[in-house]
Amino acid sequence: MVCYGGGEYRRPVVSGNWKLNPMTSGEAKETLKLLAANQRALEESGKDIPEVILFPPYPFIPLASELLEGTTVAIGGQDCSLHDKGAFTGEVSVSQLASLGCNHLLVGHSERRTLFDETDVEVNKKVHLGLNAGLRVMICIGETEDEFNVNLADAVNEIQVKKALAGVTAAQMEDITIAYEPVWAIGTGKVCDAPTAQEVHSAVRRVLDELYPNTGVAGRTRILYGGSVTPESIDVIMREPDVDGVLVGGASLMADKFSRIIDFSSPLLVRSPPRVLVAKEVVSCRDTLDESPIWDPRDGFFPPKHLL
Ligand code: PEP
Repeated sequence: MVCYGGGEYRRPVVSGNWKLNPMTSGEAKETLKLLAANQRALEESGKDIPEVILFPPYPFIPLASELLEGTTVAIGGQDCSLHDKGAFTGEVSVSQLASLGCNHLLVGHSERRTLFDETDVEVNKKVHLGLNAGLRVMICIGETEDEFNVNLADAVNEIQVKKALAGVTAAQMEDITIAYEPVWAIGTGKVCDAPTAQEVHSAVRRVLDELYPNTGVAGRTRILYGGSVTPESIDVIMREPDVDGVLVGGASLMADKFSRIIDFSSPLLVRSPPRVLVAKEVVSCRDTLDESPIWDPRDGFFPPKHLL
């Protein structure tokens, strides 16, 4: 759970988008087996770990469900058809995804918008299709490099959020996650610097507040960052108060890298509360070594001032 200044609690989400990778089911199987082993170890460690969602290519969904069974990793579809059934060769519907055990749906990824000309209206239709099929929907938004350079990021993201959420009720927002993915940071190795991501996330939260006033939606909705996230950049980005998790492309294809991202370290992550120790017997002792209590940054608590 993440505790932020505003008093809101949002469980972090780490999600992986495999896109059109890997090339064979054999390769997918190897990665999934490693990921499952890492995830089991992490879950057994007793740490307070984030929610994890994997978006594999459609043909690998059953394999992913089978190999990740027994872990808390949830599976989602990377996109969906605008149609539910019929003569639409090559399409995959939300009901087909749900029937395979998917709980999540990714919509509006910038690759769908730019390479396949997906419009905001279509994104909105897919949001509703997903929600109506009982799926939790992750909506991708983000500006291009040119838009970013002329300070249009907030304006573009505002339009994308408003159009994607047209007709979505405050109650339905419980099943919505927003992924801010600056197009110029996707697959380029350029990570948006953490303070800039924080500014955009907080602007998106203001848009949610405008759309759903006095409902608590803005404070509860999780807003993820996506764009060249790696094990090296995750800890820094997760320190920002309005960054509630990440959507990872390339690095999610390597089990160890993805697991390290899942096992991120953030001073804002409230892990298990400290144990209350009750002495059962009195033992006389002296603190001869003058030791400080051991503090690990992964515990998420800042050391008390007198120890600094
Ligand atoms: C993505 O595809 O959503 C993405 C963020 O990719 P990458 O991490 O490779 O930049």
